[in-house]
Amino acid sequence: MKLSIIGSGYVGTTIAACFAEVGHDVVNVDIDEDVVATLNSGESPIHEPGLDDLIEEHAGDRLRATTDYEAVLDTDATFLALSTPSTDDGHIDLSIMEAAAESLGATLAEKDDYHLVVTKSTVVPTTTEEVIAPVLEEASGKRVGEGFDVGMNPEFLREGSAVEDFLDPDKVVLGSQTDRAAETLRAVFDPLVEQASDAAVVETGIREAEMIKYANNAFLAAKISLVNDLANICKEYDVDSSEVLDAIGLDSRIGSEFLGAGVGWGGSCFPKDVAAIVAAARDVGYEPAMLEAAVAVNDRQPVRMLDILRDHVDPSGARVAVLGLAFKPGTDDVRNSRAIPLIDALLDAGADVVGYDPVATENFREKFPDIDYADSAGAALDGADAALVVTDWDEFAALYDEFDAMNEPVVVDGRSIVTRRDDIVYESLV
Ligand code: NAD
Repeated sequence: MKLSIIGSGYVGTTIAACFAEVGHDVVNVDIDEDVVATLNSGESPIHEPGLDDLIEEHAGDRLRATTDYEAVLDTDATFLALSTPSTDDGHIDLSIMEAAAESLGATLAEKDDYHLVVTKSTVVPTTTEEVIAPVLEEASGKRVGEGFDVGMNPEFLREGSAVEDFLDPDKVVLGSQTDRAAETLRAVFDPLVEQASDAAVVETGIREAEMIKYANNAFLAAKISLVNDLANICKEYDVDSSEVLDAIGLDSRIGSEFLGAGVGWGGSCFPKDVAAIVAAARDVGYEPAMLEAAVAVNDRQPVRMLDILRDHVDPSGARVAVLGLAFKPGTDDVRNSRAIPLIDALLDAGADVVGYDPVATENFREKFPDIDYADSAGAALDGADAALVVTDWDEFAALYDEFDAMNEPVVVDGRSIVTRRDDIVYESLV
């Protein structure tokens, strides 16, 4: 099939390359000329394992990029893979989606044959039918169901394993409201599903597809917050939380995945998606108590880390090494990293902060240009009064002799990965 993907960011680039890999002809449309030029030169505009190889193999053949929306005219279906950030009060900001839908609609006005427009971005229930479709109708002069349809296909890939996740997913969710849209979506995904090991295909309505994505992310975020709540109680009673969590994971109703206690969830999706569904729930008069509690627990974890530090060191005037600035290992993404609220609190308390991360320092420097940065964990620890471990990079688990360079070593481990030494003050967060 011939597919167009609007937006060539993290998701758009990955799915374009993967659709080309399974045999479709794909064109990426993005307003960013640099991104388009990078893709057309056979390189990936984002860092993601395996993506460079796919783009190198298919660019100029089954994969190309352009800034010109006219490219969609020669395709059967268009996926909208645009950012859906948060407004200041947590609501979803649809302005980028609406602008792209308007450009797409104006282009579809010239198209004679059937077209399917699929929302790939994460959007709150009813957005595709009540926001995107009306913009498309207005701009194209056509009605949904007459010449074009809309559909919804949420994305579940994770940064750091995006290609693998997309090509071998647990599930593919296809949301549609007409038989023709359902058939077209099925045809898009058939080649992928055939080669995936055991992907489940969920055919459902559009707003159900929209909600499945939020339910998925909200459940995972709440699971981590519940785990952290339990681990905090363990800590107060001097109970080994890892033994408790390993044991409850043996219950098949709970499962052993995603039971890691620590300094909480961050990144480009969980915080904004939980905020958006909480705001959407409140808009219709429902107070989502569980999700509000999940956010509250998550907000408290970095503060607890500072409280534990205070038991040993007065942060005012102390040199504090923060190890790990990326929101998780394997990425240079610092959006909503737990290091951000932690460093804010440390600076408020008068600490002298030195940060270190194997790959995310430059991105973090844009947010905190005035703290010190070290080139290695050892250099960050040199002369420090305390060390806070925020991201579970493997290299932090290997630290041992490096702590000798600290003044009187105090280590607060937010990920429970550092090898303990009897001769230094070591506290795990949980
Ligand atoms: P992104 O910010 O990385 O990419 C968006 C791209 O859209 C950019 O390249 C930008 O230049 C382009 N763009 C902006 N306006 C445009 C326009 N009018 N026309 C064409 N292109 C335009 O976003 P992302 O991380 O890929 O996320 C996209 C969506 O997927 C979001 O809704 C997100 O919640 C969802 N999602 C993201 C992930 C993830 O891990 N990043 C996972 C699952 C779902």
